[in-house]
Amino acid sequence: MRLGVHVPTSKGILPALEIARQLSCESVQLFSSNPNSWKTQVLEPEVAARFRQNAQSLNIFPIILHTPYLVNLASPEPDIWNRSKKAVLDALLRARLLGADRVVTHIGSHKGSGMKAGISRVAAAVDETVAAVDEVILVLELGAGGGNSVGSTFEEVADIIDHVKCQQRLGIAIDTAHLYAAGYNISTEKGIVSVFEQIDRLFGTERLKVVHLNDTEVPLGSRRDKHYHIGLGQIGYEGFRALLRHPATEGLPGIIETPAEGLEWDVRNLRVLRGLVVEKEDGSTFEGTRLERVDR
Ligand SMILES: [Zn+2]
Ligand SMILES: [Zn+2]
Repeated sequence: MRLGVHVPTSKGILPALEIARQLSCESVQLFSSNPNSWKTQVLEPEVAARFRQNAQSLNIFPIILHTPYLVNLASPEPDIWNRSKKAVLDALLRARLLGADRVVTHIGSHKGSGMKAGISRVAAAVDETVAAVDEVILVLELGAGGGNSVGSTFEEVADIIDHVKCQQRLGIAIDTAHLYAAGYNISTEKGIVSVFEQIDRLFGTERLKVVHLNDTEVPLGSRRDKHYHIGLGQIGYEGFRALLRHPATEGLPGIIETPAEGLEWDVRNLRVLRGLVVEKEDGSTFEGTRLERVDR
């Protein structure tokens, strides 16, 4: 995998890339705009050009944009649905300017209007938005479930894919914390193998474009989303080791979205993941880098 971090953009996209450099990221993810607002931000062409050049010289790829949390592509409310499509479209356009080849978005909730209706709205929104922008792949992220969510199981995602016409522009993202919350026990090698067998059977592992690497604090199947530091939650080291070494994840971006508790935690989480990929010949691994939880 190409390991990277979801970097904060509060100080701008160029400082965000600088953080990725400091962390020796191979890939990077950033919000396309303020995650809690519908408002889009202006992107100066010179800043975008600098960003592209810097990322290229640092050999950081792929670059992934993440849409705001408000996006709900399954919403039965026309206003929310339209705003959601606009936010996705905006992210796709920014992605082109920044040299990002994929945009990740949460799928959404049908709000009681039914799974079937929700899935057709998601598919229609995908087709409409990707038709308006060339090249960039729109990547739908499996959710943790709960709250009438659409797309928290592989079956639901396969159903969405079936309804999309422009399938070559559609990707899928998995998030380890979401999978665990949705009931997929990926804390063991057996669980990881089973997950990729299901993906292969239902929509094909080549459809995967992004993996989010987060441990979780909530129990299996609890349908809640609470990211935690790698190895220190319910998924643990064994699950991440098996995931990182599974052939289906080879070459994919693996992005951590672990709690923002300071750069040293990002350093630690990346070091743990790198250690799980390549264990040293003497059998020692990442043990020395294990940090216990810090109280804030
Ligand atoms: Zn995620
Ligand atoms: Zn999450």
